[in-house]
Amino acid sequence: MRAVTEREIRASFINCTKGEAKRLAVPRDLATRPWDDLDFLGWQDPGAPERAYLVVESGEGFTAVALRRATPGAGQLRRSMCALCLTTHTGGGVSLMTARKAGREGQLGNSVGSYLCTDLACSLYLRGRKQAGPGGRPPESLTLAEQVDRTMTNLARFLAKVTG
Ligand SMILES: [Zn+2]
Repeated sequence: MRAVTEREIRASFINCTKGEAKRLAVPRDLATRPWDDLDFLGWQDPGAPERAYLVVESGEGFTAVALRRATPGAGQLRRSMCALCLTTHTGGGVSLMTARKAGREGQLGNSVGSYLCTDLACSLYLRGRKQAGPGGRPPESLTLAEQVDRTMTNLARFLAKVTG
């Protein structure tokens, strides 16, 4: 993806207030992120790990979404699969993330949830730049480009639920 600036990130949130978008934690190392290997940018708030965010290019600009990670329970010790990149993790590597819906629906308290890589590093797992442990990424017949397409289709579907 194209490198995104802090200003662009803060201006791109679709499911939080302007005040929240101004205050939330944006990574300080944007200049050194591996943009060529990122299909979207995801990060956790280092001061509040239950808060996570992701930014994806959309048309001319970017779309950013604020997520809440469900408190890990005993069930998290099981293996579970990321709904975006289909990487399997154990021990909390996948978390239930919920996004408040955009607009009026969100004001009414409605949200949508999905199981995602806790570190939101799906792009790096797809490329083998990050390892998910034994069996995390079983061999696939799809090319990397096809796996990226599939991931982005899954992400677009999730974002459509947030906006819809
Ligand atoms: Zn993932």
